[in-house]
Amino acid sequence: MKVTFLGTGTSQGIPVIGCHCRVCRSSDEKDKRLRASVMVEWGNQVVIIDTGPDFRQQMLRAEATNIHAILYTHEHRDHIAGLDDVRPINFLKEKPMQVYGEERVLEALKQMLPYAFKEDKYPGVPDIHLNEIQSRGFEVNGIPITPIRVYHYKLPVLGFRIDDFTYITDANYIPEEEKQKIVGTKYLVVNSLRRKKHISHFSLSEALEVVSEFSPRQAYFTHMSHQMGLHRQVNAELPDNVMLAHDGLSIDVK
Ligand SMILES: [Zn+2]
Ligand SMILES: [Zn+2]
Repeated sequence: MKVTFLGTGTSQGIPVIGCHCRVCRSSDEKDKRLRASVMVEWGNQVVIIDTGPDFRQQMLRAEATNIHAILYTHEHRDHIAGLDDVRPINFLKEKPMQVYGEERVLEALKQMLPYAFKEDKYPGVPDIHLNEIQSRGFEVNGIPITPIRVYHYKLPVLGFRIDDFTYITDANYIPEEEKQKIVGTKYLVVNSLRRKKHISHFSLSEALEVVSEFSPRQAYFTHMSHQMGLHRQVNAELPDNVMLAHDGLSIDVK
């Protein structure tokens, strides 16, 4: 299984309009982040987790021509706004896109794209098939997926474990009873917004605590704000088994 980071930023992680901070002015490609998303390749199956506003650009950049399914962590715009751009994949494959999310998230998708879910659809609208998931494990075309309940301040969000890979974004709390699902994971992705504490996202030190609790072979931080500081400098401070992810980074999960 191969995992590629399509984006590792937040809406304040992409170069911010009018901001002259060191990160927004940096010429290091690793400081240029699109909204957080990953592409999971399992055999010939391709699954995307979250489609933020940069989804189209991310697909072009990754030269992806096919996606079999999209999983959603939660309904904030930086995670769902790009869904309309599945149209070209619909045209190419002549099939609906299989989308997985909790009931509340699927409702938000319907509200965002009402024209795609009408009885009498206008030709050419995105063709989307909604699959409701709960906190129980499920399969996508033979890929076993374990949802992990985490909290984004008060909002329940899902993380996902696929084999030895675990992806958690937009969290600042993992309930005790969910931790069992993460134990033993070799590759752990956790959101880490910035150094300073935040009401709904793990800070750098909080994300490091999560990593030390599970001791994965390698941990990656994502969903970083421009307030995190320069990639090169922050990365140099981290323990050996932790690194800031960057857009385009691929990992072989084995
Ligand atoms: Zn969010
Ligand atoms: Zn977010």
